[in-house]
Amino acid sequence: MLVRIELHCHSTHSDGSLSARDLAELAFAREVRLFCLTDHDTCAGFEATKAAFPDALRGVELSCTEDDHTVHLLLYDRGGDWQVVQEALEAQRQERRDRVHTIAERLADLGVSLDADALLARVDGSIGRPHIAEALVQNGAVKSREEAFDRYLKDEGPADVKVARLSLADGLALGNTAGAAMALAHPHVHGKRAEALLRRYRDEGLEGLEVYYGLYANKKRRKYAALARELDLVATVGSDFHGDALPKVERPGIDVEAEVAAPLFAWLGRETPIS
Ligand code: AMP
Ligand code: FE
Ligand code: FE
Ligand code: ZN
Repeated sequence: MLVRIELHCHSTHSDGSLSARDLAELAFAREVRLFCLTDHDTCAGFEATKAAFPDALRGVELSCTEDDHTVHLLLYDRGGDWQVVQEALEAQRQERRDRVHTIAERLADLGVSLDADALLARVDGSIGRPHIAEALVQNGAVKSREEAFDRYLKDEGPADVKVARLSLADGLALGNTAGAAMALAHPHVHGKRAEALLRRYRDEGLEGLEVYYGLYANKKRRKYAALARELDLVATVGSDFHGDALPKVERPGIDVEAEVAAPLFAWLGRETPIS
């Protein structure tokens, strides 16, 4: 028996191309049994998701840093104190919004104009340098996003302003306070470091590993399934669907065997569907 699950996808609240509502409708129509929208650093799409998919879980893909690397941590609400996650995300969102003004001042010093308020009015999610690059293309300051990064916005560039990010340890602590279930997203981006990372943090609440990932062929799924078994981690299922923004993943929902689905439902505090 196969069970269709989607625990990792993005809407227009971050960098996906479908609205949260449309995405949830699509997942519902495709008979996804366990569904969670995981926008980057925001849960703003949750209400719209619930309207179309009443049983949807609440979750988020949190950007953390560990040893100068970015680690994407998936958090799933298990009915604990999600408010603490909400507050942390809100603080981060506000810092990112303030940062747009700081970057605009830097750009002004360089003779480049950017209407920060207009940009802030347009973007409601986690606003960042890609949005600014796009705005600079649109107002004619540069010819391409690449040029915007190369001349101004790249790391350590003249208009780059750092934004504080949670360390992985702090991200896990936050999730633990909220009683969340947490998984390491798309482990391949960490290459050989993934295993050490999991060994180091599994006792701090990093209990899940995204084994059934949209872009992984069966061989890679088997490899990470073996790693999850070895480290006693829950294998999670998520396509990382972004709509047309990442067309390689064509649709939300991945079909897995019941043996994969059952521990996942239990871990997330949901009853396994029988049929
Ligand atoms: P932010 O979180 O606002 O600092 O923006 C980070 C994002 O900017 C990254 O996820 C990339 O999408 C983009 N980015 C960073 N550096 C570059 C670069 N040199 N060229 C193009 N995009 C970049
Ligand atoms: Fe994304
Ligand atoms: Fe990610
Ligand atoms: Zn993602």
